[in-house]
Amino acid sequence: MMLPTHVLVGMTLATPVAVAVPDLAGPAVGGAVLGSVVPDLDVVGRHRRTLHFPTGYALAAAIAVGVALVVPTGPTAGLAAGLVAGAVHCRMDSYGGSPELRPWKRTVDRAVYDHVRGRWRPARRWVRYDGSPGDLLAALVAAVLPAVVFEGPPRLLVAAAVAVAVVYTALRRRLPALVDVVTGDEV
Ligand SMILES: [Zn+2]
Repeated sequence: MMLPTHVLVGMTLATPVAVAVPDLAGPAVGGAVLGSVVPDLDVVGRHRRTLHFPTGYALAAAIAVGVALVVPTGPTAGLAAGLVAGAVHCRMDSYGGSPELRPWKRTVDRAVYDHVRGRWRPARRWVRYDGSPGDLLAALVAAVLPAVVFEGPPRLLVAAAVAVAVVYTALRRRLPALVDVVTGDEV
């Protein structure tokens, strides 16, 4: 799914922590946003593989959440939120399409790389592809809770993520032609 959807879902996950323990709201939200973004930094390398660890993030998150519950400090809460968000990010990607230039053509079936099994997990396509109307709907639904709960910079981030999601969805199907022009493939 597209990055704004990941960020908004991550922020949604952080809201219960922020409401229950306001002192840890900052680290929880910051950690969740960071954890939502980091996996997709591999877009410049082997996307959905180099920084996507569907099993690794989940295991590390379970441990980090346990530690944060016993020792609830800013760093432990931030780390736990980040790892949970990273695990959810990888899970969400497996419900979407494949990372290809025209994912609606379904030429490959690779959602996210499973480092434990040493193979790609197939794309379930509950959300057809990144930037599809279904992806935008998921982003908008995920925006509701953090938009209501948070104020200040986190609420501005929600607004920015929604704006990017709307623009990206509007342009998504035109992007391949732009890439073709840049790379000189199919003008
Ligand atoms: Zn991803």
